[in-house]
Amino acid sequence: MARVAVVGAGLGALAAAARLAALGHAVTVLEQAPQVGGKLGWYARDGHGFDTGPSLVTLPQLYRDLFAATGGPLEDAVDLVRLDPAVAYRFADGTPLSVPGDAAAVPGALDAALGTGAGAQWSALMARAGRMWGITEQPFLRSPLARAATLARLARSGSDVATVAPWRTLRGLGTAYLRDPRLRTLLDRYATYSGSDPRRAPAVLVTVPYVEQHFGSWYVRGGLRRLGEAVAARAVERGAVARTGTAVERVLVEGGRAAGVQLAGGEVLRADVVVSGADAAALYADLLPASRPTRRVRRDLARSTPSLSGFVLLLALRGRTPGLAHHTVLFPDDYDAEFDAVFGVGRHRGAPQPVADPTVYVSAPDDPATRPDDDSESWFVLVNAPRHAAGHDPAGGVDWDAPGLADRYAQRVLEVMARRGLDVRDRVRWCVVRTPADLERDTRSVGGSIYGTSSNGARAAFLRPGNASPVPGLFLVGGSSHPGGGLPLVALSAEIVADLVGPA
Ligand SMILES: Cc1cc2nc3c(=O)[nH]c(=O)nc-3n(C[C@H](O)[C@H](O)[C@H](O)COP(=O)(O)OP(=O)(O)OC[C@H]3O[C@@H](n4cnc5c(N)ncnc54)[C@H](O)[C@@H]3O)c2cc1C
Repeated sequence: MARVAVVGAGLGALAAAARLAALGHAVTVLEQAPQVGGKLGWYARDGHGFDTGPSLVTLPQLYRDLFAATGGPLEDAVDLVRLDPAVAYRFADGTPLSVPGDAAAVPGALDAALGTGAGAQWSALMARAGRMWGITEQPFLRSPLARAATLARLARSGSDVATVAPWRTLRGLGTAYLRDPRLRTLLDRYATYSGSDPRRAPAVLVTVPYVEQHFGSWYVRGGLRRLGEAVAARAVERGAVARTGTAVERVLVEGGRAAGVQLAGGEVLRADVVVSGADAAALYADLLPASRPTRRVRRDLARSTPSLSGFVLLLALRGRTPGLAHHTVLFPDDYDAEFDAVFGVGRHRGAPQPVADPTVYVSAPDDPATRPDDDSESWFVLVNAPRHAAGHDPAGGVDWDAPGLADRYAQRVLEVMARRGLDVRDRVRWCVVRTPADLERDTRSVGGSIYGTSSNGARAAFLRPGNASPVPGLFLVGGSSHPGGGLPLVALSAEIVADLVGPA
């Protein structure tokens, strides 16, 4: 039995804690915030309740696997609801598109909304995406990456490499398959699921819409935070100890291997294994002593583009919106301008800034647990945003704490929504604004990046920090390490780490 110290109680760390405790290890989870869950947060006031982070669960099978491996079915712990329609889109030309929750019904819906032929274009792309999924799931997503791995080396054959096309961007693949510009916009958006720019992210991200449509879009009744609570409860049932309000200040390294953690206040917790679910950039910059073995990881992190962040409005609304879908996306006229502004490239080279005319995402669960009465709604509104200009990289983001900026930008987002047909300005009971700076403060993700490093660039996935660090006994889980961010992938990182540590 090993003594395991887990840094942070984000979902990746909690899933690792549950698995390691179930394997018989003595696990202590150390979370600096007053509650567990990390980005999977919850805000409640006056009977309104909001998930403040994730609003969409994909690949719930990975959580079924986690729960089955740690003592009982997921469905006993949370109430999963498959969404249909999955998303209601509105394109810049005013065209509405409601994407059904069942993959088989998607081509027909595309034909009906965008014209005959749109469904066939999308189906051909999804067939390719399905082949890519089959090729990459096991050797890439479910395995710890060896040093110097490339997709070409991981693939089994030349034809696998041709299918995955590691040299191609998501935008490039979309342009080859999709003639309707609205379909290309739809595909581009999936780059943002990993915090990336479709013009630089690899084509293999086409597997994101594939798994979303194939395995469904899901909600957790009562709010997605219940998933975090359930994983935390499972870890504790298996014997893990969770300490909130407990910040880790240093990972101790003795004789070249991880030996425990030092907490704020000076307490030392000795451990045989340390699992860090904190942002990998913060781990390597602040928590670990600089050393020769970690130099390569620091260099790779410096060469990566951090993921985008998000600007969030929590809207407590009077009244109900007839026909509103659970998820709504309102697209802008010029999607490229959004990526230029967020990443400080193209027209905004070297100067990221809030997006003037952003894509707006609204999540409005029809769930009594989120509203004070049946004549109210609670909307989570998210737009892509440059990360907060962190101290070490002031030119890499925006100073979201600048006086007045957050309020002015909130008004802008409400105006954009109104222009695109969702005017709720006279229904707002109150509005809470959460900027990338707030996300950084709450979860210690550097600059408030949602997913650690982005997938921008053909080598991005291989520059992302691995699950086994160069320091023996120190492992990484969560969205800023392999295989990346989002609820499904962090469950995989936890499975990989539990396998690497092994049974007691
Ligand atoms: C606005 C928003 C929307 C999102 N939407 C979706 C979505 O719809 N679907 C989806 O799948 N994903 C979504 N995500 C991403 C998803 O939330 C994360 O990938 C997921 O929650 C996993 O996070 P994680 O395991 O990396 O840990 P995190 O949630 O980042 O948690 C890290 C934890 O470590 C703690 N910590 C950090 N440093 C220390 C320290 N030194 N000592 C102690 N504790 C420390 C932090 O306080 C935090 O609790 C969204 C995220 C955001 C912010």
